[in-house]
Amino acid sequence: MSAILPGATVGVLGSGQLGRMFAIAARRMGYRVHTLSPLADTPTGQISDREYQRPYEDLDAVAEFARGVSVVTFEFENVPAEAVEAAAQLVPVRPSGEVLYTAQNRLREKNFLSRRGFPVTRFRHVNSEESLRAATEEIGYPAVLKTASSGYDGKGQTRLDSAEDMEQRAATLGGREWILEAFVDFEREVSVVAARAEAGEFKHYGVIENAHRRHILDLSVAPAHVAEATAREAVEIARAVMEALDVVGVMCVEFFLTREGRLLINELAPRPHNSGHFTFDACATSQFEQQLRAVCGLPLGSTELLRPAAMANLLGDLWHEGEPDWRAALTFPAVKLHLYGKSEARPARKMGHLTALAASAEEAARTALAARDALTRSRASGRGNL
Ligand code: AMP
Repeated sequence: MSAILPGATVGVLGSGQLGRMFAIAARRMGYRVHTLSPLADTPTGQISDREYQRPYEDLDAVAEFARGVSVVTFEFENVPAEAVEAAAQLVPVRPSGEVLYTAQNRLREKNFLSRRGFPVTRFRHVNSEESLRAATEEIGYPAVLKTASSGYDGKGQTRLDSAEDMEQRAATLGGREWILEAFVDFEREVSVVAARAEAGEFKHYGVIENAHRRHILDLSVAPAHVAEATAREAVEIARAVMEALDVVGVMCVEFFLTREGRLLINELAPRPHNSGHFTFDACATSQFEQQLRAVCGLPLGSTELLRPAAMANLLGDLWHEGEPDWRAALTFPAVKLHLYGKSEARPARKMGHLTALAASAEEAARTALAARDALTRSRASGRGNL
């Protein structure tokens, strides 16, 4: 295909912070951005030239949106297949609907990975009380029960430690599809964010180390503290997965690193990922610009890490007692503040993040966490004085 050049309009399905940072990167390079989602005044919409507030099921609206752009990409993988198809009849959609179809359902994703010989934890399909009983007999305890679709950030996820847990859960399965996974007693969690162009060019950001709190990403640090052979293997797995799926765009492969040093794929995200947010400030080309370059058919940029970096998420909980003290965090000169323009700070909602750059990954992590603590410290010390 011929390249889609600056001045053209790119379309984003979904309207959250990933689309927002994509739109910032795209507008910086002279593109126009349109976004479509069911919501209004969204993180992406605030940065876009045009925001369509329509349900994804409104295929006429999706077609109108697609006619106004040169290429469609997405920032949210739970867009219904029909919407992607409706857009794909009019303009290129990258990554393709097949990639989305595989990645938006945990069962399809795990089946795809295990059929292709990629390392994953043991899993079973569950759709009834009987199949849950049979699956726990095969997998044992502890195990993790997840909804097959529409689950993210630990939503729709339960750990089962005993037959009693299982029996309790069995009664509430409803008519849904589930996946039961063996619990992984991991040493750490890591991810690889990478980009792939149409002709197969591949660039990656190395291995990123991730710490989760309540199943939500809390802190990402780059480079990860892992053996060189492990880092090489993680990158090679990411490359092979992207080739197998023929991804054009950005993908994140999330891994568990077991205590025995084995890498197991937990999840694929066919778009920029929270664990790659540090690339915005710390790399020559961010994951968002890379997505733009890949979907527009441009050469990929350098992924060079300019300095070790850490990213701490800012969840809505930080607003519990009022607006965080932004000034206090910004007294750290190597810290960058990102806020997503969301007006309502609900608990566990991703509202923004902080990125810190430093001479080492450890120091960057310490700085990011200290800056985040500073956001609420004045309130804590205020209470202490009462
Ligand atoms: P997910 O939504 O599948 O990415 O899960 C969110 C987080 O829950 C992961 O990053 C892990 O910290 C934890 N988790 C999910 N699945 C498992 C598992 N099979 N074993 C251990 N921890 C898990």
